[in-house]
Amino acid sequence: LTVLGLESSCDDTGAAVVRQSGQSAPEILSNVVIGQAELHAAFGGVVPELAARAHAEKIDIAVQQALDGAGLPLSGVDLIAVTAGPGLIGGVLSGVMCAKGLAAGSGLPLVGVNHLAGHALTPRLTDGLGFPYLMLLVSGGHCQFLSVEGVDRFTRLGGTIDDAPGEAFDKVARLLGLAQPGGPSVEAAARGGDPARFAFPRPLLDRPGCDLSFSGLKTAVLRARDGLVSAQGGLRTADVADLCAGFQDAVSDVLAEKTRRALSACSSRPAALAVAGGVAANGVLRARLAQVAQAVGTGFCAPPLKLCTDNAAMIAFAGLEAYRAGHRDGMDLSARPRWPLDDRAPALLGSGR
Ligand code: ATP
Ligand code: FE
Repeated sequence: LTVLGLESSCDDTGAAVVRQSGQSAPEILSNVVIGQAELHAAFGGVVPELAARAHAEKIDIAVQQALDGAGLPLSGVDLIAVTAGPGLIGGVLSGVMCAKGLAAGSGLPLVGVNHLAGHALTPRLTDGLGFPYLMLLVSGGHCQFLSVEGVDRFTRLGGTIDDAPGEAFDKVARLLGLAQPGGPSVEAAARGGDPARFAFPRPLLDRPGCDLSFSGLKTAVLRARDGLVSAQGGLRTADVADLCAGFQDAVSDVLAEKTRRALSACSSRPAALAVAGGVAANGVLRARLAQVAQAVGTGFCAPPLKLCTDNAAMIAFAGLEAYRAGHRDGMDLSARPRWPLDDRAPALLGSGR
């Protein structure tokens, strides 16, 4: 089965071709991502209208590049998969409209994919992980624990009640005058810093369950920064290093402890702990999570970064799995700005049959 996947739910326009023959390992034949970073840079965040227009302009180009990269004409594909939500509605619509046009023009079947299912099923694409496993999705827009029990069976065990960790990294970088995206700059600045110098809070650790909070942590960094600025007239390089190290340590501590709880909350023993999302690139966090997995005797799976962040290969693959499980969509497939993964309504992936 060869699948063309389309992704346009946030600020990356993606198209990819993924093939899986029978039970053999899936192959990524092409994976095109056209980013929009420069477009939004001046605004300090993604501007939905600009994103939607850029997706509309670039989606056809991405599709053509993906087919060229795979060395296939559209007729060489068996299925079209597209992110149908959740995300910024203008972008999702661009992808869904394009996919419907391609399906109508070629007669190929169409499957609408939940973007979060794309992330959650990625460890099966990269490592052939069997069910069930625990997925920690940590990105600029999301933070949640999902018990992945089947192609369309996800149980949300907890998540952030305010900011996503990536958002917190980005805000902390801004507070300290470091470059965006904040994650890599904070991680680099933290090297050699003393994580114990500032006693940053570990939000919600005193409460049971797997929910997380990151907005207080960001405020704590702001207060510590302001304290230093008023006491000594500015920040020294060592101060920035200590602030970054302390913040990164607090985020990693909280995520590690909540992951430990999520692993024990899974109804059946998870085959592995898997991570996805841009924040999963963080070395300190990765090491901490690997320790947690090892302590409970489960595997640890961290797919390559290119497949952890938004991409269409994961959508093509999730579409392939959904199709094999019997899901089909028609021309009435709609774009859904909100689409909780553990929505047990008949429509789990796409609108079902
Ligand atoms: P989503 O995919 O949830 O809609 P997004 O597109 O913002 O959100 P990603 O592209 O998965 O998310 O990840 C980007 C985020 O990851 C940014 O907030 C960035 O700061 C963070 N990030 C990237 N590298 C690191 C790192 N080394 N440490 C911490 N955070 C990082
Ligand atoms: Fe995403």
